[in-house]
Amino acid sequence: MSYLSKTDPEIADIIEKERLRQFNGLELIASENLVSRAVLEAMGSVMTNKYAEGYPGKRYYGGCEFHDMAENLARDRLKKLFGAEHANVQPHSGTQANMAVYFAFMNLGDTLMSMKLTQGGHLSHGSPVSFTGKFYRVVQYGVDPKTEMIDYGVVEEQAKKERPKMLVCGASAYPRTIDFKAFQEIADGVDAYCMADIAHIAGLCATGVHQNSVNVVNFTTTTTHKTLRGPRGGAIMCNSEYAAAIDKAIFPGMQGGPLMHTITAKAVCFKEALSPSFTEYNKQIVKNAKMLAETLINNGLRLVSGGTDNHLILIDLTAQGITGLEAENALCSAGITVNKNTIPNETKSPFVTSGLRVGTPAITSRGMKESEMRQIGNWISSVVKDVKNEAMIKDVQAKVTRMASSFALYPE
Ligand SMILES: *Cc1c(COP(=O)(O)O)cnc(C)c1O
Repeated sequence: MSYLSKTDPEIADIIEKERLRQFNGLELIASENLVSRAVLEAMGSVMTNKYAEGYPGKRYYGGCEFHDMAENLARDRLKKLFGAEHANVQPHSGTQANMAVYFAFMNLGDTLMSMKLTQGGHLSHGSPVSFTGKFYRVVQYGVDPKTEMIDYGVVEEQAKKERPKMLVCGASAYPRTIDFKAFQEIADGVDAYCMADIAHIAGLCATGVHQNSVNVVNFTTTTTHKTLRGPRGGAIMCNSEYAAAIDKAIFPGMQGGPLMHTITAKAVCFKEALSPSFTEYNKQIVKNAKMLAETLINNGLRLVSGGTDNHLILIDLTAQGITGLEAENALCSAGITVNKNTIPNETKSPFVTSGLRVGTPAITSRGMKESEMRQIGNWISSVVKDVKNEAMIKDVQAKVTRMASSFALYPE
């Protein structure tokens, strides 16, 4: 930051404070991760200086030869990573990726069927406060009240009754595996398209740690910054028959110039994801989540669905008599960053909630393993069982900082 600290010390100072926050704390937000220095370098490069509207070989601006090379590499590597026929790496975010699929294959007012936000779904899957809830007729499925898992028979019944145009699977707060094949079969049975939004679990899907949705469902959308560990952004994968419609929906349909520095960094991320160590990394994410879950359960906490198959855990705090908001604040004081989250059959508002969502991608990127998970699980348990005990929270914070700062911030 040698230039920035001279020209804009105010901002340089803010960035340094944020770097220290990340370095000294434990990042347990399930949708966050840490990028490599190589990804950071690509994002902070001169590739940001160019307009490259269009696609490789068909741009609306001159001087795009190197941008074509970068975008082609990004597309080819992503296709290889998931075994996809077609990839679009231009979506600015996961929400834009979803929007493109809807715009390409649905008319306004068509029926969109997806998972409820309060039971694990995402805003861009039909929430009334999102464009999706305004543009489409939304019907939603939840989890079984007993098992707290998706009941595919119930989803099928509902699909037969509601006849959606698009059936969406994939979630932001669902700790269990998703059966993409079952969803596509349900969609086929009612002549609907099926879209899998693997934003959270893309890294797991790419490495075989979770079933891959590509070549199973019609469209796969993802973010690149969660378990994929790349720059903030989105991507879409599909078979060749849908390629032209998807590409047109992104540009010129709903985006202008692509963020070429981000696309270049996506290419770097996809290369990293193709390496054997990325598979090991994703296996460790799940091992860590399972160990963390076991520790929390041994400390008497209740987990939604009783555990986890992936990178995240939902803690139900009802028995502790505290809200998700109180737990989030107390853990934040202890240097542990998590987010409050609704749980199935939630009784409180989304700003208060009865649950906490906890994820292992970022701490696994720092190299933490099972023994650290046991410690972290014990610290979380102590804090949520005694949120008003300031002395204890201060003591945990000191221990958190000592542990965190002994691990590098940048993944190898
Ligand atoms: C995070 C997430 C997204 C959206 O990502 P943004 O890049 O924030 O728009 C979409 N779908 C799911 C399931 C997600 O978890």
